[in-house]
Amino acid sequence: MTCSPPVSLPPMRDSLSASEESRGCGNDQALRIAEIFGPTIQGEGALIGVPTVFVRTGGCDFRCSWCDSLHAVLSEYRHTWRAMSAEAVWAQVRRLAPAPLTVTLSGGNPATQNLGPLIALGAAEGYRFAIETQGSVVQDWFAALDLLTLSPKPPSSGMETDLAVLDACVAAGAARTVLKIVVFDEADYAYAREIAARYPALETYLQPGNHTPPPPDDDTATVDMDGINTRMEWLIDRALDDGWYGATILPQLHVAIWGNKRGV
Ligand code: SF4
Repeated sequence: MTCSPPVSLPPMRDSLSASEESRGCGNDQALRIAEIFGPTIQGEGALIGVPTVFVRTGGCDFRCSWCDSLHAVLSEYRHTWRAMSAEAVWAQVRRLAPAPLTVTLSGGNPATQNLGPLIALGAAEGYRFAIETQGSVVQDWFAALDLLTLSPKPPSSGMETDLAVLDACVAAGAARTVLKIVVFDEADYAYAREIAARYPALETYLQPGNHTPPPPDDDTATVDMDGINTRMEWLIDRALDDGWYGATILPQLHVAIWGNKRGV
């Protein structure tokens, strides 16, 4: 299953202003879209194994050291993104799969754009919407989501968490809000513990980090599954030895099946 963006739409401008980067395209009608693909399965987190169509937006306010979606993050790949109206995105999703279905909004950071009109279009036709975001930007339209997965980034990412913004995301009113935290090492584990303790009412999903993410222009790069599985075993043992029975520990199913391949 591959992404097939409409060729008739104009590519993105080479550069956006800083305010456009943080708020969207500077045009209420246009979204920055890196990929639309599916139906496939959600490979991680609370909906693991559930059929879905992905809408991956372009642009991110973070630069995580181990990002596995750099083609949807780095400005040098902006020429591969498309400026699409919510209606155009929605038409493509409908062509891929009929309702009822969960549409997954991913990125980049999808929270940097106004996806409210897109969600309204789909919800009116019986689709459900899930999003994954690091929790660095809060939006009113989070309240229209069926699932808000907040994935604050641990120390190994090189990023910092603004807890006030994360608090606001948790309080934004999504039907279901969960935490998903990638763990590479002991410092990440301690971070996950602290974040989960801050939000005891939320489900927490832990995921071993992939230390072999793909370069942005090569999704055939080999994944070190043995290494990831070793980290998974360590993470399971670490949580169980710690008596942290409230956490759910999951691998990235799509990586185990398809490696770094994109659009699956
Ligand atoms: S927040 Fe996500 S998409 Fe953005 S740089 Fe980090 S891992 Fe990549």
